[in-house]
Parts: sequence; structure tokens; C-alpha cells
Amino acid sequence: MTRLATFLVAAMVWLTSGDAPLAEPALLLDGRAEIADSGGGDVTWTLGLSRPVPWRLWMADGPPRVIVELTGVDLQGEVELNTTSVSVVERVKTGAETTELRAILREPLAVLSAEMQTLDDGTARLNVNLQPATADGFRAALETADAGGVPEPLVVAIDPGHGGRDPGAEFGGLKEADLVLGFAHRLRDALNSEPRINAVLTRETDAFLTLDARLTRAREAGAEVLISLHADTLEDTNAASGIVIYRLAAEARAAANERLTTRHASNDRLTDVDLSGVEDEISLALLTLSRAKTVPQARDLSEKLVGAYRGAGLVMNSRPERTGAFTVLKAADIPSLLIELGFLSTDEDLKRLTSENWQVETAQATRDALLLWMEERRLAE
Ligand SMILES: [Zn+2]
Repeated sequence: MTRLATFLVAAMVWLTSGDAPLAEPALLLDGRAEIADSGGGDVTWTLGLSRPVPWRLWMADGPPRVIVELTGVDLQGEVELNTTSVSVVERVKTGAETTELRAILREPLAVLSAEMQTLDDGTARLNVNLQPATADGFRAALETADAGGVPEPLVVAIDPGHGGRDPGAEFGGLKEADLVLGFAHRLRDALNSEPRINAVLTRETDAFLTLDARLTRAREAGAEVLISLHADTLEDTNAASGIVIYRLAAEARAAANERLTTRHASNDRLTDVDLSGVEDEISLALLTLSRAKTVPQARDLSEKLVGAYRGAGLVMNSRPERTGAFTVLKAADIPSLLIELGFLSTDEDLKRLTSENWQVETAQATRDALLLWMEERRLAE
């Protein structure tokens, strides 16, 4: 066995090994946690955090309270109270990674809006706006929340690029197909450790899959989002580094629609969506409508991923968010992103990509971004 082969075997063993260390917890920023009157009886709850984290918000009765659950946060420090509407804020650790802040209310309040913002410096701020409610209004809000019950988990399709007779990029004997498959397994496990996510892989093994088959598998699993994993390589070694996230470009969308028309006219197979038996004009209109929804969702997730990766201190490319015309991004019905995890041809990237720590941190940051994305979508629904 050559030295390289030994390295590869070793790499594959830890790429698929179990228990991963947890990422450093996010911190509550000093003096930036407050519940305060904001005029007209409204109350604003702000929490400054060292990075964006997954969160949930709900209300409960007995005593009436607003609960914010944060994941992966070290909650030292106090929440300052500058309102008479809240009597006290309790802090309860509810799981290995989850903590609840429970604001006990003196009078009924209802949630007007709630949002986790990522700031330019990589820190985050949770803003919750509350407004006075009648006792009936408060009970109605509780009942609506109860009726919703436990939400269905977000189904995420993870697509490890290449495989089988298509090894993808190769560098120094390392195949892109193997690297992304190892990371995909780790990412799936990190996502599935969170009950609110159900992650599936489009390929489990080193097998060749067409792009159609990848999208079909994602659809069969009921995927609400598709993340395709790749690693780049450049002829110039060390010419570029860091993570790049691609989404479908507006121009690519137009081009895809055009190509669709051409393909359809020539009875060719469609690569991205099955519209057989549907009139061309209608199908194009549907496709455009569908993309009008999924493209902004993909852009929003891309922004959240960049925020989470930066927050976790991961190395990003100088142009981390890009648009491209990759076929795997063209599913009109599923928001899709393609992540180039780094450049195999760059020494530092190669070291990172094959390091367990980097893989764990990247997987956890990806999970956090998906949770944030999901929470905001569900609040907006
Ligand atoms: Zn690739």
C-alpha cells in the first residue's frame, strides 16, 4: 500500500466515524439583552448573540409567558428588564444544547414579529416585538399554537456530487466524490441529531447517479430544500480558497426556460422537471411561478449559510455567494444550493476539508442556518 493509499483509508475511516465534538457555544453579548417598553404599550425583546443560532418562540399559560428557546448558547449574563409588562425572566436548561428564556407576563401580550438578524460583524440579534392583547386574544393565540402541534420536520436532501464512474475533481489521489460523500454522511448525522430536521442523501455509496435521478430521489423524499455538495480544483495550485455557495442565477433561469422550450419542441427529455403532457405555454408559466418562490428562498438560505459559516469562523471565499447555471440547481419546485466546500488544489483548504474539526463545525453551522431559515419561513406562513 502506498503512503497515499494509507492516507485515503485513514481519511475514509474518520470521515465516517461517529461521535463528533460540539462546536463552541454562542455567547449572549454583555449589555445587549433587554426587554423594554417601546411605546404605546408595545414591548421589544432583544438578545445580542456572538453568532446566529437556531431559535424558537412560543407562548404558554399558567403563568402567562413568552418563551424563547435557543440552541447552542452559553447563557451567562442577565436579561435587563425595562418594562412593567414582564415580572421576571427565568432561564431553564432544557437539553444538552437547548436553553429556554421564559418571560413571565404581568399582562397579556401577543407576538407581533420575531426575527434573528445577522449583523455585518458576524454577530446576531434576535428581535421580538410584542403588543398588548386582551385576555381572550392571548388565549386565542395559545390555542392557535396548540392546534399547530409539533411541526413536521424540515426534509433536507443532501446531494453528494459525482460518484461511481464520475470521480469529480481529483487532486493528489483524493477524489472529490469520496470527500463529499464522507462529509455528506457527517452532515446528515448532524442534521438528524436535531428533531426538527429530517435529512436524506441522494446517494449513500460511491455510485454513479444522473442529475435527474438525484432530483427524483429528493422529490421522492419530499425534500423542501436541496443542498448539493462539491469541492473545486484549479489548475493553479493555491490560487483560491474557502467555501463558495451557488444558487441559480436570474439569467440562468431565463436560459433554462429557453432551453426547456427548445428541448420540449424537439421532444427531448427535460432535465429539471417533468412536464410531459402539459402544454408548453402553461408549463413555462408554472415553472416561472414556481421559481419566483424558490429562488428567493434559496437566496435567503445562502445568506444564512454565509452568516453561520462566518459566525463559526470558517474560511469563506472572497466571493462566497455566487450564481450559476448548474443543472442540479434548476429544480423549479425545491429551493436548491450547490456548496463548493473548498479547493482541493489549495493546501490550506485540503487540510481543512480532510480535518474532522472542520467537518464537524461546517456540519453544525449548516444545521444552524437551516433551522434559522426554517423558523423564519414558518413564522411567515
Ligand atoms: Zn463537483
